[in-house]
Amino acid sequence: ATPTSIMVATGRAAQLGVLFRQGSALQVLRDAEVVALDKTGTLTVGRPTLTDLVPAPGFARDEVLALVAAVERRSEHPIGEAIVAAARAAGLTLAEAEDFEASAGHGVRARVAGRRVDVGADRLMRSLGHDPALTSTFAAEAERLGDEGKTPLYAAIDGRLAAIIAVADPLKPTSAQAVQALHAMGLRVAMITGDNARTAHAIARQAGIDEVVAEVLPDGKVAALQKLRAGGGGKPRRVAFVGDGINDAPALAEADIGIAIGTGTDVAIESADVVLMSGDLAGVPRAIALSRATLRNIR
Ligand code: ADP
Ligand code: MG
Repeated sequence: ATPTSIMVATGRAAQLGVLFRQGSALQVLRDAEVVALDKTGTLTVGRPTLTDLVPAPGFARDEVLALVAAVERRSEHPIGEAIVAAARAAGLTLAEAEDFEASAGHGVRARVAGRRVDVGADRLMRSLGHDPALTSTFAAEAERLGDEGKTPLYAAIDGRLAAIIAVADPLKPTSAQAVQALHAMGLRVAMITGDNARTAHAIARQAGIDEVVAEVLPDGKVAALQKLRAGGGGKPRRVAFVGDGINDAPALAEADIGIAIGTGTDVAIESADVVLMSGDLAGVPRAIALSRATLRNIR
């Protein structure tokens, strides 16, 4: 492509809400074979709500919700906001949490009203050595919630499993359509997430996604990307990664091409080669179509 055609194309893209940082990104994008999407905030709305809370025998729903929300009030994770909102909606008064600790990708812990409260994924519960009955007691429930695309969490109070809780973070209304458009262009679509595997697969099914890398810790997104790049077939694949969060910045930089959602965090935007002005994925197939049209007969 001539410098002029690239300038015209990037200018046209900008009018369509797709900002190319450099003209060379146009060619890398045209050659992408896999589009890997971050889940939370990229494919999904990113604002979960609490949908279920099932107390264990001997625990009352409101008691558990008040203690858990007291801890989550100190968290910056959207899951924390969902739980606090549910407690406020139920009219519960939240006590002060002390000795608060957040463990990225696992959950949160604190003391509330003299009680030890731990909230998070099953791996947090296992790492704290809580309740060996955890898996058997709530296993069927966790599977059901996961299959509905909800994220199951656990609460432990004073070292005893007290409840299974679920939050749901729905797809953005345009996500499935964007995935469909990518398929129509011959691309494979993958998803990378810290969420548990069952939930991740349910969301992937709803969106029509082909490949899932789940239970990725916040610092593991680059490794997940390498895994997608290697594929299974010996020949490495060219991967475009789309993300919005602070954790996505390393993967955006590492990918063959990084695409940031414009409503995402500044760090993600700064690490990307392409920025979508809209808050959804519709710009991804648009950008690829444009790169193909501009560079049609050029290798
Ligand atoms: P994602 O960005 O895909 O949601 P995270 O790495 O932020 O992934 O979180 C992974 C998992 O860790 C969550 O699905 C949840 O199970 C658990 N978790 C993280 N933070 C919290 C929190 N504040 N309260 C409860 N669970 C949490
Ligand atoms: Mg995200």
